[in-house]
Amino acid sequence: MNSASGNDPQALREPVLTTTSARIVTRDQHPVSRSQISDNALKVLYRLIGAGHQAFLVGGCLRDILVGIEPKDFDIATDALPDEVRALFRNARLIGRRFRLAHVRFGREVIEVATFRGAAADDAPQMERQALPSRRRSTQENEPAAALSGSGMILRDNVYGTIEDDAARRDFTINALYYTPADFCLYDFAGGLEDIEQRRVRLIGDPAQRYREDPVRILRALRFAAKLGFDLEAETAAAIPDTAELLLDVPPARLFDEVVKLLLHGQGEDTFDWLCRFGIFTMLFPEAAACTERDPTQNTFIRTALANTDNRIVEDLPVTPGFLYAALLWPAVVAEKERQEAAGASPKEALVAAGAEVIARQQAHTSVPRRFSTWMREAWELQPRLESPTPRQVQRLMSHPRFRAAYDFLVVRERAGHATGGMGDWWTRFQAADEHARQAMLGALRPGTGRGGPRRRRRRRKPSAAS
Ligand code: ATP
Ligand code: MG
Repeated sequence: MNSASGNDPQALREPVLTTTSARIVTRDQHPVSRSQISDNALKVLYRLIGAGHQAFLVGGCLRDILVGIEPKDFDIATDALPDEVRALFRNARLIGRRFRLAHVRFGREVIEVATFRGAAADDAPQMERQALPSRRRSTQENEPAAALSGSGMILRDNVYGTIEDDAARRDFTINALYYTPADFCLYDFAGGLEDIEQRRVRLIGDPAQRYREDPVRILRALRFAAKLGFDLEAETAAAIPDTAELLLDVPPARLFDEVVKLLLHGQGEDTFDWLCRFGIFTMLFPEAAACTERDPTQNTFIRTALANTDNRIVEDLPVTPGFLYAALLWPAVVAEKERQEAAGASPKEALVAAGAEVIARQQAHTSVPRRFSTWMREAWELQPRLESPTPRQVQRLMSHPRFRAAYDFLVVRERAGHATGGMGDWWTRFQAADEHARQAMLGALRPGTGRGGPRRRRRRRKPSAAS
């Protein structure tokens, strides 16, 4: 194959692949240029190519560049086996059991390098394919290289193949584009360029079968539609209702990751609409969905929280899955708290218990890792304390490690029309006020409601049963 020094960006080169199954677009006919690609990704590509391998940028980064969005990461596909990749890069680490691939790390940037994946078993997608060279097998010899579950879900997929195989195994046509600096050509194996032009998300192959293989593709379809402002191609949309319940078989830990990706990419509010339209929100968050259906103000609250998160992403402010999950589950927490109070618990006990129970029940659908659940419960439990602080508590609350999050949460609730006594606004003004104004604001606070009073103070503190 060609060696690629690639110093002249204008140079037109012969395509390095002579494939008949791809539309090949030469450098003068497409807008992808090296200036849009991370230096580290280029380094990896050049080293692989220099060692005699094929190496291509693939997937989301090309799709995003073509749509005019700055890519958030760069994925590489190569004919080098994982061990060969590792041998070429001191900073490479092999990860994954389901899909073995190499992560090449440059400081905070990780370039994912995956070996061309072959078609597993007899589920060959419906794409034209060239005659294949002998298929290589996973290096983990003691287990089958590929495995399907009873319902046809892919459990393991470590059969390697050609670039054509690799393209056919990708999810959407817009994600099956390849680019290599060996010739600066774009290779379009599934009609992705036309779908980008027509602004539609289309699964490669038979949609129902592709969703059955991996139901998470349903979530990915909705995510890309929202993120790119695309439509779902008719058959890609039509197959969702019949296959959506397979999402219930996906391990909750994977669903947690996917939900975070779904709702924390900058178009969370639009994605929420897509999820609701296909009944997927109900499947992922049954308890919260039941509450939002009963009570439209809770629906408004979730949308406000998602819009708030979307804005933070635009403003480059940090966002955390903790805040997202705290918002998604809040309607359920409020409902459970009311039940607990009706059964005789004090408001404080009811809130603590409701938080614990709602999180425990949610674990069956999407797991909530402990580092986030602790965060969420603290943010929830601070809500009533921020709504009615005594003057003496104000300073202490402000130095609480979860104050900032709880305050943001309170503001979102207030903006959504929840009854917060206007305290979101009060805290906003208080933080901005000078010392003199702060004293006046503290003086005007309603005196406390007995919290911290003498009887309570004498009691020995007992850790709450639910915390
Ligand atoms: P983004 O990184 O913006 O979320 P992406 O398309 O790069 O989008 P990744 O999850 O990084 O998404 O996956 C990289 C590529 O791997 C995809 O573009 C797609 O080609 C392929 N891919 C990812 N997940 C699947 C899947 N479940 N089924 C088939 N192919 C997939
Ligand atoms: Mg990606």
